[in-house]
Amino acid sequence: MDLVLNAEEQAFQTQVREFLATKMPPEIQERVRLAPSYVPKEYTGRWQQLLYEQGWGAPGWPVEYGGTGWNAMQKYIYDAEYQAADCPRQSPFGISMVGPVICAFGTDAQKEQHLGPIIRGEKFWCQGYSEPDSGSDLASLSTRAVANGDDYVINGHKIWTSHAHHADWMFCLTRTDPDCKPQEGISFILIDMSTPGITVKPIISIDGHHYLNEVFFDDVRVPVANRIGEENKGWTYAKFLLGHERTGIAGVGKSKRKVERLKDIAGVELDGGQSVLSDPSFRARISQAEVALQAVEFTQLRILAQEKAGQPPGPEASTLKIGGTQVEQTLNELMIEAIGNYAAPFPADAQDMERNEPPIGPAHGVGLMQERLLRRAATIYGGSNEIQRNIIAKAVLEL
Ligand SMILES: Cc1cc2nc3c(=O)[nH]c(=O)nc-3n(C[C@H](O)[C@H](O)[C@H](O)COP(=O)(O)OP(=O)(O)OC[C@H]3O[C@@H](n4cnc5c(N)ncnc54)[C@H](O)[C@@H]3O)c2cc1C
Repeated sequence: MDLVLNAEEQAFQTQVREFLATKMPPEIQERVRLAPSYVPKEYTGRWQQLLYEQGWGAPGWPVEYGGTGWNAMQKYIYDAEYQAADCPRQSPFGISMVGPVICAFGTDAQKEQHLGPIIRGEKFWCQGYSEPDSGSDLASLSTRAVANGDDYVINGHKIWTSHAHHADWMFCLTRTDPDCKPQEGISFILIDMSTPGITVKPIISIDGHHYLNEVFFDDVRVPVANRIGEENKGWTYAKFLLGHERTGIAGVGKSKRKVERLKDIAGVELDGGQSVLSDPSFRARISQAEVALQAVEFTQLRILAQEKAGQPPGPEASTLKIGGTQVEQTLNELMIEAIGNYAAPFPADAQDMERNEPPIGPAHGVGLMQERLLRRAATIYGGSNEIQRNIIAKAVLEL
């Protein structure tokens, strides 16, 4: 694959860059800079609306439902520019996960009801997969859906459900047949979060924020018409969704932005009267992280080249998840080291724009510890890195 962008690709890159630089409302950009993981729903929705108006609301969807029809290289350029531009992350659950599933397997009524509100940023979704006893071994899940007339009656308990407290809808894996092989008795059901019998309980994460939840279902009645595809075939749709979850998982653009920020911070923070950046050993560690990041980027480009040649990403895409999340965590650690003791006080409300007290320590330190603590989970969510290594061992190295 030619890694140098051709003239057409460069023009596309300029168009994306200009759009992101000029259309982002300043208050949203400031919020993203302060607290990238805690951008309020109103801001994410407004930004999604602007992307939709530009025709870029859901690049990965088929064109007939609002997708852009971009080729793999254009998608790569767009993702890289997007991640590097301090834009709010698009809500992944609607756009990247359930949207493509509805496009591919939904009924006309489901497409009519859901696709528009997702792409316009009007309705938010959450992902009801994990349970207290089913995480990596997801197929063992036990939340039960029992058919009763035109409804399913759902009972069970989901956990680690990101943004369930903001979500209008959940896409949920439920067990509809307990008497067959685990993967064969699962159905993929869309649940309106305002349905009676649903209780959402917060889990406050180590960074002091409310992002995660437990969700309890007590005799929740959901129309059978909300099931995606065939009963007991939910695992097929869940696997299709995971393929889409991989998009941009390496976070190369985001980490490049972090490298810039790290250098800025290390350039002004002092250690023994000298800037942290002037310390050769610190600089060497930044270089190591940059080299690792470049390796991830090249791997991503190799996988893209395969995609361009008509071959879908194979199990080797797991290396992107591992490499990308490790680099991100290293960069977070280095930023913490660079600001030194000022990383220690990290009041959760320091990231609130309404807060009227000055930050404890330098302004560029606000949110760094929260980000570092939250992203410790990056090697767990989206399929833990240990599981990714198992995939590589079995499916790539054939061990
Ligand atoms: C911040 C965050 C957000 C999340 N958001 C969501 C969400 O929105 N929706 C949702 O459904 N879930 C969500 N999850 C859950 C996430 O998908 C699970 O945490 C993940 O799949 C791991 O499952 P588990 O926590 O049950 O750990 P376990 O599966 O119990 O694993 C525990 C440890 O054992 C290791 N392990 C397990 N099995 C193996 C094996 N076979 N070989 C080697 N090592 C193994 C794991 O890597 C891990 O280190 C989120 C998790 C986090 C941390």
